[in-house]
Amino acid sequence: MYNMLSNQNPFKTAQTQLDEAAAIMGLDPAIHELLRWPLRELHITIPVRMDNGTTQIFHGFRVQHNDARGPNKGGIRFHPDETIDTVRALAEWMTWKTALLDIPLGGGKGGIICNPKTMSTGELERLSRAYIRQLGSFLGPDKDIPAPDMYTSPKIMAWMLDEYSIMRGQNEFGAITGKPLALGGSAGRNDATARGGILCVREAADLLGLNLAGSRAAIQGYGNAGSFAHKLAVELLGIKVIAVSDSKGCIYNPEGFLYSAIMAHKQQTGSVTEFPGAAAISQKELLELDVSVLFPAALESVITAQNAPAIRAKIIAELANGSTTPEADTILHNNGVYLIPDLLCNGGGVTVSWFEMVQNAYGYYWEEEEVHKRLEKKMSAAFHSMQEAAKTHKVHNRLGAYIVAVQRVAEAMKLRGWY
Ligand code: NAD
Repeated sequence: MYNMLSNQNPFKTAQTQLDEAAAIMGLDPAIHELLRWPLRELHITIPVRMDNGTTQIFHGFRVQHNDARGPNKGGIRFHPDETIDTVRALAEWMTWKTALLDIPLGGGKGGIICNPKTMSTGELERLSRAYIRQLGSFLGPDKDIPAPDMYTSPKIMAWMLDEYSIMRGQNEFGAITGKPLALGGSAGRNDATARGGILCVREAADLLGLNLAGSRAAIQGYGNAGSFAHKLAVELLGIKVIAVSDSKGCIYNPEGFLYSAIMAHKQQTGSVTEFPGAAAISQKELLELDVSVLFPAALESVITAQNAPAIRAKIIAELANGSTTPEADTILHNNGVYLIPDLLCNGGGVTVSWFEMVQNAYGYYWEEEEVHKRLEKKMSAAFHSMQEAAKTHKVHNRLGAYIVAVQRVAEAMKLRGWY
């Protein structure tokens, strides 16, 4: 969805980012043009019987940006403001993410325009199953593998997996990731996105000579990525989380919040807001707090040319996709803010999704420690390749990450004879 505050089109952002990298790399113009667009996209219209007996028509998308390095991979979002351009951008970012993490997968993404908060469990199940029925022939472990994203969950993945298996007449665990453990999910998938981001923050702090223990952080968004970032920032880095937010508002306490207390409050009230003893602040104030680490973990385009000059964080760890616009990237870089771009920072999610597919393929499941160990190795290798490229080309981290990823995808396309 577009962030209504900035009205920035995420697909334009993704194309601009690629254009900047292509110029630095001297990318062949035909390759550049091919990579600016998805290879395939599907628009679907889905009738769903609602609880009150009426039929509601929903619109959805699945975009396959590039599968030169392997089958398309990417989440499915349920959101009232979903747009084809957001899904295109996210599919493109998945291509770069899988390439940067050196995972043998491509880039895909899906979405349905709907408001899951106003739908019953039965309505959500019928919508999820209908989406898969419409898309079934485009999906599969060797074609395109969905996963959870904004407002979709392991439970929704379980319905989707079941529907796909029914269509194929056999169990198809490898066709969807982010599944519940009892249905071929992977240990360590729940917190994988946040864990990958925290591992990057640790690498960045080492590089900057920053001692994070006792320092402060702020988190925008308190869903899967944001809430686990709170838990792991405290557990693994000794950070104090002094501000968190969700779609209803932001809370602040300079003494720091206890993860378990915020989660209990959220479970009880449905939001982090009105947490006892916390002050209410605005989203703007949260983003501009004087912290060691800022975790955007909600929406696209929240750090723009307007607020970038006021950002005081030393490290920005982009758990959300597309949270910073290209103009803001330059401002932050010039101001010495160390930005860990989404392509890397939230790549832990797709990495453990890939581990899940590998485990599904051989029907043997790893212990959680094994998943953590393998994730750490992947995140660290990707962090250092990004860092190296940024240093060599004297560019900011996002461009460094793009250069590594685009080179890898271009190599695969060349080997296939696409140019
Ligand atoms: P989620 O649905 O679990 O949580 C989203 C959170 O954002 C909720 O707490 C919601 O209240 C909050 N939010 C919505 N609008 C907001 C606003 N205007 N201000 C502040 N908070 C707001 O989603 P998630 O899976 O945690 O995804 C969050 C971001 O991380 C997305 O950009 C997603 O693409 C990215 N991401 C997630 C994963 C994953 O594995 N979950 C992987 C890669 C990237």
